[in-house]
Amino acid sequence: MSWETVIGLEVHVQLSTNTKLFSGASTTFGAEPNTNVDLIDLGLPGVLPVVNREAFHKAIRFGLATNAEINQVSMFDRKNYFYPDLPKGYQITQMEKPIVGKGSIIINMDGVEKLINITRAHLEEDAGKSIHDLFDGETGVDLNRAGTPLLEIVSEPEIASAKEAVAYFKAIHQLVTFLDICDGNMAQGSMRCDVNVSIKKEGDDVLGTRAEIKNINSFKFIERAINFEVSRQIKILEKGKTVVQETRLYDSVKNETRSMRSKEAANDYRYFPEPDLLPVVISDKELEDIRNTLPELPKQKEIRFIAEHKLEESEAKILASSKAMANLFEDATSKTKDSNLIAKWLVGDVSALLNKDNISIEESKLSSNNFATLIERISDKTISGKIAKSVLEDIWNSGNDVDKIINDKGLVQIQDESILENVAKKIIENNPEQVAAYKGGKDKLFGFFVGQVMKETQGKANPQSVNEILKKLLA
Ligand code: ADP
Ligand code: MG
Repeated sequence: MSWETVIGLEVHVQLSTNTKLFSGASTTFGAEPNTNVDLIDLGLPGVLPVVNREAFHKAIRFGLATNAEINQVSMFDRKNYFYPDLPKGYQITQMEKPIVGKGSIIINMDGVEKLINITRAHLEEDAGKSIHDLFDGETGVDLNRAGTPLLEIVSEPEIASAKEAVAYFKAIHQLVTFLDICDGNMAQGSMRCDVNVSIKKEGDDVLGTRAEIKNINSFKFIERAINFEVSRQIKILEKGKTVVQETRLYDSVKNETRSMRSKEAANDYRYFPEPDLLPVVISDKELEDIRNTLPELPKQKEIRFIAEHKLEESEAKILASSKAMANLFEDATSKTKDSNLIAKWLVGDVSALLNKDNISIEESKLSSNNFATLIERISDKTISGKIAKSVLEDIWNSGNDVDKIINDKGLVQIQDESILENVAKKIIENNPEQVAAYKGGKDKLFGFFVGQVMKETQGKANPQSVNEILKKLLA
């Protein structure tokens, strides 16, 4: 029997507003527990929430960038449940009338594009955090995160594999960081998702029963959790049994999903319209202002890079693939005119280092300023390309300043022709056999002499000058 996988994702994006969705408390990450909290976040009786309009503006940016319907009148609802990190006893969310309606996003799988429909994107407040491993036998509660604005983006069940799910999550990550509505920091939980997985017979119209795996926050774990879940469900179906609809947890240590609770239905939450908040009305002017100030998105950047800098399409794609990469490129072009040289280094050596360490530019020690200086030093011939490679590796590991590395290690390129000529003469003197062979017609040996001069000068000789001098001396 052939089976088909069906996946739908609910992605929670933490919006990068300064203050919370309904209170003036700060949203900065890493503060002392329970310090970014005010009366509203504590859920004290008698206090009333006030809507943070900036969160709406950020949600609308997402909606416009995904060609979605924007509901200029949207409403909040109460979702009731009890948990220690939710002091009010309910979460304020948008159920009936979300700010963002149907839209879509294009994902890219090794060059093949696919459109995934987005059902809706609604605003809601985050809960606090229960901390189970800090106090022996007790649970701590940190309410710093309570009330932080989240945009929950719900996809249609149109994702067909673990790899597609990762591509979808990456597309959302790329978009929200380009739109500057989320810092994209996965390790700090700025983006998390619930993965809904079901299996059906190939060609079947009816969807299978789904399991929902909660709260995954890395590309790698999304892929692994889905792969595990798919094979678990297929095993059940092949035995002729049925999959239970439930909420599951992914355990990254054991690489398995485990049942957490049976799936709750909407009526378990007793949703009702939030009585403490009026509907939020977005005026035409407000909407137009947001539309007119939308930042440049990856595709537009790519097209502009090709037009302005005569880059190859493949290069421009890589340079526009993340906000941080595009910033490195553009900051460097403001210092050095040779944009092809900059592109070559980013697409080549920098990308190779990123891949090797499997990190993003934000996580690396490479600052935009330092990279721009490195390119400047190559282009003004202070250092050779070969030395530049080792300087880049040094920056990568130490984060030190380029000029400091060049000075401390004495890496300045030797341009002085008389010095290079002396070195070349010495090499020729010391290698009479090779000289004879070369003059006898073994042209390939030329590289040997270049190599020796480079070795003698510890790679600091200007390669072009070395070539010219050796040609002259060996003629
Ligand atoms: P909730 O999980 O809160 O009950 P929904 O019913 O709206 O919310 O579904 C949430 C997600 O589950 C959506 O992304 C949707 O595409 C996905 N989904 C729904 N049914 C299935 C299914 N049978 N298989 C896989 N995904 C599904
Ligand atoms: Mg769900």
